[in-house]
Amino acid sequence: MMPPGPLSGLIPGQMMDRPLLVAPLMRFAGDYHGDTAVVTRSVEGPIHRTTYGETHRRVQKLANALKALGIKPGDRVATLAWNTWRHLELYYAVAGIGAICHTVNPRLPIEHMRLILAHATDRLVFYDTTFTELVAGLKNSVPCVEQFIPLCDAAHAPSDPRLGDVLAYEDLIAPHAETFDWPEFNENTAASLCYTSGTTGTPKGVLYSHRALVLHSYSMVSSSRMTVDDVILPVVPMFHVNAWGVPYAAPMVGAAQVFAGRAMDGQSLFELMDGEAVTCALGVPTLWMGLLTHMRSAGRKPKGLERVVIGGAAAPESMIEAFELEFGVEVNHAWGMTETTPLGVVNTLKPKFKALSQAERTKLKSKQGRAIFGVDLRIVDEHGNALPHDGVAAGHLQVRGPWIIQSYFKHDARALTADGWFDTGDIATLDGDGYMHITDRAKDVIKSGGEWISSVDLENAALGHPDVAMAAVIGIHHPRWTERPLLICVTKGAARPTLAEINDYLGRKVPKWWLPEAITFVESLPIGPTGKIQKVKLREQFKDYRFDA
Ligand code: ADP
Repeated sequence: MMPPGPLSGLIPGQMMDRPLLVAPLMRFAGDYHGDTAVVTRSVEGPIHRTTYGETHRRVQKLANALKALGIKPGDRVATLAWNTWRHLELYYAVAGIGAICHTVNPRLPIEHMRLILAHATDRLVFYDTTFTELVAGLKNSVPCVEQFIPLCDAAHAPSDPRLGDVLAYEDLIAPHAETFDWPEFNENTAASLCYTSGTTGTPKGVLYSHRALVLHSYSMVSSSRMTVDDVILPVVPMFHVNAWGVPYAAPMVGAAQVFAGRAMDGQSLFELMDGEAVTCALGVPTLWMGLLTHMRSAGRKPKGLERVVIGGAAAPESMIEAFELEFGVEVNHAWGMTETTPLGVVNTLKPKFKALSQAERTKLKSKQGRAIFGVDLRIVDEHGNALPHDGVAAGHLQVRGPWIIQSYFKHDARALTADGWFDTGDIATLDGDGYMHITDRAKDVIKSGGEWISSVDLENAALGHPDVAMAAVIGIHHPRWTERPLLICVTKGAARPTLAEINDYLGRKVPKWWLPEAITFVESLPIGPTGKIQKVKLREQFKDYRFDA
């Protein structure tokens, strides 16, 4: 359907036309939540404490410094950095002067990084000193970059001769005034840039507008229930999809923020959460595995922890149960992607579902989430026909809304269907209450005898088996059925369950015709730069695999 044409007789509303910009979020937090904490486990190790008041002052110093360096509106400024207070300052200062904060994922291969920096034509790169070696490798091969600036003080600045004279971040901002008159400009101006990580193809730049980021923040605080009482730890990296938008959303409600720096292992996270009384933490399942292991050995949850948001990959039922039943921590499953800023759906229970049995609740919670206002969802078949929202029909998930991508950076063509929807590449069901369940990526779905088998559901079921630590399922060619599932497992200990044992267990959770045709064991699974299992690599590794006749 085409959007409706202009209606005649409309009367303009008479409210102020004020742009939705990012810098006022930090100004607000600085003015009215000036003593609220921003805590970081610094890259050097010790805990660093500051406040929104001090952060806003330093953001203004940095804005002055960037202008003095000649950074102009529309210029790209890159970061190669962990989650820290300085990275937060960059988010706001760069976007606040009308330039674009390009967060680069340091886990990408260096070749990828060169391409991305050159494609974005970044003028500056701010980096954590842990990436000094990487920067030495980039320095002379990305001519657009005028300066690489380490995020530290002079005492911690790298003295590597390959880097030449280095101006440390603290010295850069020190001489500048701590007031800045934030300019006002069109809210559709670009504020930040993030390339997709390539799990799903070649990296493409997603250019977030100020308007999208502010509207996304309103949605995030309401759908994820963030309030002034919260102490929020985004374990998701600030280099990937703006740490899911938390650095913009938390200041909007004056919630305290805690950053983990580079230490994302279970023990470090536990200690940080415990010490800072974190109430809400957000991250991908692989990270929570580490935290849960530590919680079990400590025999308790980090004090103050009320809920975790799990997204980026499917949250297995066993993980939801571990948090909720063993430790009394509420789980909110969520789904999104780089192209959706990323919030798409969040799983909170409607009141009518609160009386469900624990098993039924867990099942409902393992769905990726419930529709939120601002993101229209639909599922369509191969021919683009809309499918029913009955929780059964699975189709291509398409989305539309003010924080959903329209076109990729430096691509003229719209990345949308002819009638203006973004195809996510995911296969999902939707039910009448708005709960969406991802059954697969379109590329990963296993086509068996004309039907689809969900690799995600099989993996999650396998993860509930006591011997299985990690699981991936891929489709392998089968002469009769086209494809059949191969289960690839990393075990917790030496015990290796047989196919019959595994299938006996899985048969209680998934349809019989889904059961894996074979099981194989590996030492580890390939994990991509955003913490997800790389199915592309597995398909390559097992491309010659054949089922026994
Ligand atoms: P990339 O594009 O680099 O893989 P994204 O972070 O943009 O990285 O990943 C988006 C994809 O991740 C989604 O399209 C979906 O397939 C998957 N995903 C995100 N959240 C979930 C979830 N809760 N359950 C299952 N898959 C998810």
